[in-house]
Parts: sequence; structure tokens; C-alpha cells
Amino acid sequence: MKLIILDRDGVINVDSMHYIKSPEEWVPIEGSLDAISFLNKHGYTVVVATNQSAISKKLFSLSTLDEIHKKMQGLLKVKNAKIDKIFFCPHTDDDYCSCRKPKNGLMKEISKYYKINLKNVPSIGDSTRDLEAFSASDAQPILVRTGNGKTVEKNKTYPENTLIFDNLLEASKFIVKSE
Ligand SMILES: [Zn+2]
Repeated sequence: MKLIILDRDGVINVDSMHYIKSPEEWVPIEGSLDAISFLNKHGYTVVVATNQSAISKKLFSLSTLDEIHKKMQGLLKVKNAKIDKIFFCPHTDDDYCSCRKPKNGLMKEISKYYKINLKNVPSIGDSTRDLEAFSASDAQPILVRTGNGKTVEKNKTYPENTLIFDNLLEASKFIVKSE
């Protein structure tokens, strides 16, 4: 199978310092839904691996997270696209879990769920912790210049083999072209 792993906030949707706490606050980044549709059309299974510490902080509930994801999937459906599965970590640093990125517990879950090795699987994020989690599973880290991406690029806080693109659509075009 052809798999692609995406961070959510700052890659698919506009991020907020105050967390995305409701479906109304979930707004796609221009071109990101088209990017997922383009990947699906080219036979890619797209999954999300996202830190959602606001759950542990009780800023919103699991059912609200579900509502947010229903909005995301609904907007994708209009474009004949979908996220196959959403893997999320609900914890904060204080929970000392193994899934909060930069740890690679979510990556391990993905690997186990699809029964595939994640070596060189294109994995796209906007934060250092995403890229470190991807790298820890030997996936191909890809940084986008949306969300925190420009800051990460400027500070060079990314793994050495990271590829960098303006946004999810540009990264997706590259991935399909270089098959
Ligand atoms: Zn966790």
C-alpha cells in the first residue's frame, strides 16, 4: 500500500495558539483538501497523526474532537477524498505517555494497524516534534512552510534528511511526481 502520514494543525488546517476547540475553529489551509484529494486519486491512503493535549487539559471533550473530525471528513467528501484513519495523542507532557510527538508511539500504532514498515513513508509536519517523531520511525520527514514551518526552517530545527515545501499541495505534487 501507498501510505502518507500527515500532522493536522498547521498542515491541513490553520493552527491556533489557543487550540482548535470546535468545528467552527477548524479552517482548512488553502489547497490542503485538494492535496488530500490528489493523493487519494493517485492511490495513497492518507492518515493523520496529531497531538491533541487540549483533551487531557479538558479544554474540549473526545466527542468535540469527533465533531471536528466529522467537519474535516465532510469537507473532504465533497472532493471525493478522505482521511483513512486519525491517530491522536490526548496527553500533555506531564502524562509521560509514549504517543505524544516527538515520541513515536503514534507512528508505531500506524505501523501496527496497517501492518507495514514506515521506512521512507512520506510524513508531513510543520513542527520540529512532528519531524522528530517521523524520523524516529525511519519515515521520510517533510516540512511545510505553513503553521510553525517557516520558523522551524529558519531555526533549522529539523532532521538532516528533511524535505521542505511551501505547503501540503506542493509536497503532495512532489511525492506523486517522484514515485
Ligand atoms: Zn500520548
